Amino acid sequence: MAESMAGLHRTHRCTELSEANIGENVTVMGWVQRSRNKGSIIFTDLRDRSGILQIVFEEENCGNEYYEKAGKLHAEYVIAVEGEVRARSAVNDKIPTGHIEIVAKTLRILAEAETPPFPIEENSKTREDLRFKYRYLDLRRPDIQRNLMTRSKIANVARNFFAEEGFLEVETPTLIKSTPEGARDYLVPSRMHPGNFYALPQSPQLLKQLLMVAGYDRYFQIARCYRDEDLRADRQPEFTQVDMELSFVDVEDVIDVNERFLKKLFKEVKGIDIPTPIQRMTWKECMERFGSDKPDIRFGMELKNVSDVVKDSEFVVFKSALEAGGSVRGINVEGQGEMPRKKIDALVEFAKGNGAKGLAWLALKEDGTTKSSFAKFLTPEIEKALIEAMGAKAGDLLLFAADRNKIVFQVLGALRLEMARQLELTRKDDYRFLWVTEFPLLEWSDEEERFVAMHHPFTMPMEEDLDKIDTDPGAVRAKAYDITLNGNEIGGGSVRIHQGHIQEKMLEVLGFTKEKAQEQFGFLLDAFKYGVPPHAGLAYGLDRLVMLMVEADSIRDVIAFPKVKDASCLMMEAPSEVDVKQLDELGIAVKPQEETAEKDAE
Ligand code: ASP
Repeated sequence: MAESMAGLHRTHRCTELSEANIGENVTVMGWVQRSRNKGSIIFTDLRDRSGILQIVFEEENCGNEYYEKAGKLHAEYVIAVEGEVRARSAVNDKIPTGHIEIVAKTLRILAEAETPPFPIEENSKTREDLRFKYRYLDLRRPDIQRNLMTRSKIANVARNFFAEEGFLEVETPTLIKSTPEGARDYLVPSRMHPGNFYALPQSPQLLKQLLMVAGYDRYFQIARCYRDEDLRADRQPEFTQVDMELSFVDVEDVIDVNERFLKKLFKEVKGIDIPTPIQRMTWKECMERFGSDKPDIRFGMELKNVSDVVKDSEFVVFKSALEAGGSVRGINVEGQGEMPRKKIDALVEFAKGNGAKGLAWLALKEDGTTKSSFAKFLTPEIEKALIEAMGAKAGDLLLFAADRNKIVFQVLGALRLEMARQLELTRKDDYRFLWVTEFPLLEWSDEEERFVAMHHPFTMPMEEDLDKIDTDPGAVRAKAYDITLNGNEIGGGSVRIHQGHIQEKMLEVLGFTKEKAQEQFGFLLDAFKYGVPPHAGLAYGLDRLVMLMVEADSIRDVIAFPKVKDASCLMMEAPSEVDVKQLDELGIAVKPQEETAEKDAE
């Protein structure tokens, strides 16, 4: 039966005790990790969020009543123990409290527990659906607890740092207007205004810009954001940003304050010195060298453009790519020239999975001979020139993609990462930051048959490129920057447009009529008429940053109550159907499933 803790007061968390406390009388509380009855002595491992502490029940010290009670302990019972700290005869060097134990004098069982559906232990192999159904038990696992403690620390360092730098923490609303530019919005029906909807913010973007108009100078917020996208492995429908905006600044100022932030963060949380200034690379260089706008620079294997070398080749794959204005590029996977054919075939399939029509390869055997998927079309001269251009030697494997540049980058960028994964070329605790700058302002959307903003419609074009906005919009670079870490985008931002005529031009290029622009962003455009300072900002994806800092494999391991792949919460069973009455109040009727499906088909 569950007892109360009346009259008891916890004196320490488990691992707050050490040899310095020997001889002291203490009271500890927590969960039973396990309890072993050795006949005349009972050993109980007590767990709280700080760690594990050994409790010893001996009849001569706790008396018969408590000894009997201790005999009933099971895993996950919640207990309170009062006793004396003493040195342990059998030292356990694996845990921080391994040199001490508590000799119990009293015991209270504060709560009994059923046997949990999976053991509460580190690195559990339990199936994810079970883990997430019983997330409150999963959250008891020491590794997940450590992750969330580090997350809390990271948030604290951020708050303190930005406060010291003169940023004001301002909360922005989460019921806002839907502005369907970018990802899909989550909508919230309005009861007061039937047929009208709020949107949950994809980011506080427009609101933080308005705070600059309002003279708040430097804003900061740990903000929840929502994007209704098809989920990929490391995405969540709701996620957290460390969001900021600054007035009277340009790119350099944003980079400067954020480099100091990252330096402090990694020093305080991980004890790591990040060398600053952090390396920078333009978007174009990133694509050419790594096939990615968030390159993992922990290893080389850079892309090489061999279009010139193969321009006279009879190989139709190369020929047609070049004729269509594309390119032929390759990577050199050093030391893999003897890779078995089966594994190479798997790489070809991998490339196809990433949008390639095929993958050409050339293996340089250790004995000096070569083998190639396009040997038939390879003259000795071209082969020699190719090997030279790729900087290859005997024992290397060359992989080539030929297509439109976009596809070539996509395929080789992915292959490069896949090879690094297979060959274990990287370490999680090797932190390599990179600023990616000069992003394209616009990107062509085949689906919408128009230019869309690569970052968002309020991003400032580079002054040097302003004259191209009418004649060659695709070539205009933006004052946008991302901060990347080990192949992940951990943050991004831009200098904003604060000049009305440029903003109008931008919206025009994006295909907004004056009326449409006014309808969607009128409040921002109007605000800009009343004196807007030049401003810029940046936002970090906190979940991903924490994931990298704690070396977790998934962002689900750093979010207390995450959603699973299909955007549902298995524990609460959300989303769920609601009462007809609730729907009536909102003036909403739910269409039967088939009707929706028919509409989609049309
Ligand atoms: N709001 C932007 C984003 O969510 C970040 C920024 O431009 O500050 O990506």
